[in-house]
Amino acid sequence: MNESFDLIEKNIENIKKEMAAYPKAHLMAAIKTRSDEEVRKAYECGVRYFGENRVQELLAHYECVRALQGAHLHMIGTLQTNKVKYIIDKVDMIESLSSLGLAKEIDKRAAKCGIKMPVLVEVNIGREPQKDGIMPEDLPTFLAELAAYPNVLPKGLMTIAPVCEKSEDYAPYFAEMVRLRDEVFAPLFPSEENPLLSMGMSGNFAEALRHGTDFVRIGTGIFGARHYPTSAETQK
Ligand SMILES: *Cc1c(COP(=O)(O)O)cnc(C)c1O
Repeated sequence: MNESFDLIEKNIENIKKEMAAYPKAHLMAAIKTRSDEEVRKAYECGVRYFGENRVQELLAHYECVRALQGAHLHMIGTLQTNKVKYIIDKVDMIESLSSLGLAKEIDKRAAKCGIKMPVLVEVNIGREPQKDGIMPEDLPTFLAELAAYPNVLPKGLMTIAPVCEKSEDYAPYFAEMVRLRDEVFAPLFPSEENPLLSMGMSGNFAEALRHGTDFVRIGTGIFGARHYPTSAETQK
């Protein structure tokens, strides 16, 4: 068997071992820059959630993921308002809702398709200027304003934690996400019995699991280092 496929299998086995103590947590493969063959290999190893960052890549992966029975496809990256129309009928969830303008567009496009779109609200938990996401202190107002968009279904919160040196340095960020879910999100959406948290990536998923996350989103930890195409290759 192909050596890199062997590695995918081993990586997933190891991650699943770490996840065994957290039965409600789902493993999501972050598939940006990966081939359809790598996606299928992860599926064969039991991965059922796939997260894509960019609209164009999501469309390229779409047929592959849809052919896999029981596979879920989530948008997890920055989503421009004018691109919602390309993915609205192709994803099971948008995890990167971070503005009212985007909520309005998702609402409009979902209505046109006759669907309601489950979303997670992205929180900028490290208050980093270069990152998307709602600032923690703005979350109550933002969530309340989502009521204006009946075809947008808030299911919980997502975050990309700031890069830290040590695993335990992530604890305060993840603990704050738990607090925001329990004290801000849950009271506003009482019908949502189990509001979701999506947090934890290759470098910090063990800490996220300890905080009871529902999804960990892992890319390099499953597939190895990413090889971004050169600009010449993306121009085709
Ligand atoms: C790429 C990406 C991940 C996975 O990152 P790794 O460090 O490769 O595990 C998770 N979430 C989002 C939003 C991403 O863009």
